[in-house]
Amino acid sequence: MYRFKPELRIPGPVPVPSQVALQMAKPVINHRGAVFKEKLPEVLTRLQPLFGTENPVYMLTGSGTAGMETAVSNLVSPGTPVLCLVGGFFGRRWVELCQSYKAQVHIIDFPWDRGVDPQQVAEFLAAHPEIELIFMAQNESSTGVLNDVEAVAKARGGHQALLIVDAVSALGGTPCEMDAWGLDVVVSASQKCLMLPPGAAFIALSERARAYLDRCDASRYYFDLRKYEQFLERGETPFTPNIHIVFALEESLSMLEAEGLERVYARHRLMRDMTRAGVRALGLELLVSDSDASPTVTAVKHPQADGFRQSIRRKYGVEFAGAQGIFAGKVFRIGHMGYATPLDVLTSLAVLEIELSKYGAAAAAAERVMAAQ
Ligand SMILES: *Cc1c(COP(=O)(O)O)cnc(C)c1O
Repeated sequence: MYRFKPELRIPGPVPVPSQVALQMAKPVINHRGAVFKEKLPEVLTRLQPLFGTENPVYMLTGSGTAGMETAVSNLVSPGTPVLCLVGGFFGRRWVELCQSYKAQVHIIDFPWDRGVDPQQVAEFLAAHPEIELIFMAQNESSTGVLNDVEAVAKARGGHQALLIVDAVSALGGTPCEMDAWGLDVVVSASQKCLMLPPGAAFIALSERARAYLDRCDASRYYFDLRKYEQFLERGETPFTPNIHIVFALEESLSMLEAEGLERVYARHRLMRDMTRAGVRALGLELLVSDSDASPTVTAVKHPQADGFRQSIRRKYGVEFAGAQGIFAGKVFRIGHMGYATPLDVLTSLAVLEIELSKYGAAAAAAERVMAAQ
């Protein structure tokens, strides 16, 4: 029907606010010059409250998976015993990465519509004192599950294993308290809740992870975190970074700081609750129960999920995401992260109810949730 104003409602990449996008049009500057050398550390330091850490945050030029590979390539030596907690497509990605780096991979598979069970992790670790690294996703974007990483960190008890967390679709949308929860490595990326174009990954390490890294003898070059550490001390990255993402991040952090992180997280929870109330009012089934539901993406069951969302895209220009892995074709996903507001949720629900000829049902349910705030 019309194409001129596409509406991205997928779990990343997300729309970029125009004041952030404008930063991407700035002149290119020398990444080894005085201006950039001052800006890079200053901007990365402002990411620390989002990570909940006082440790340095490093930037890599690449997508979120580059950040994940950085974690693996700096920690996993051939034969390292690791445990991957898998409840979806992104949990699986840790398995594939660890296998590529020849880890001895142990996997606990969880049902794909439910969160990771910390009790099972505790039992596995008690039986496997040799495990050195645990990998998991905080927000499993493929299913819309928010995992309780704090509970998993606690479930380690006195076990030695480091906990490595993919917070790509969580950071900036839901609390991540790296230091307080005892997370050892946290990875994120630009194109999700940080409201930036794709092209940068961010990673922070605990002191324990930093010490462990020196003992790792895996091959690594571009992703060698020791280089990023040395270079950041003088305000640089080892290789030419995505300079404009740094300009843009400065702007998006200003937006998040102005709103206040607590209010940012509350906005995401409200969008989650409105989405879920609206979907339920349409008689559609949610993939995930309330207790495990993600504040940034919601998965909805539909027998013809792909045809349904494609029809919506063609008619209204609203783009929902399909599903990956076992739910492909049976589930579609509504993104509500980053540059998104309750009004966007109302329009997401509006196209669903129009497509289903249930006019007003979902919007009314969501409006009641919004009004109760
Ligand atoms: C988006 C995403 C990634 C990163 O994917 P890239 O395409 O490499 O940026 C990783 N983990 C999760 C949970 C994600 O949502």
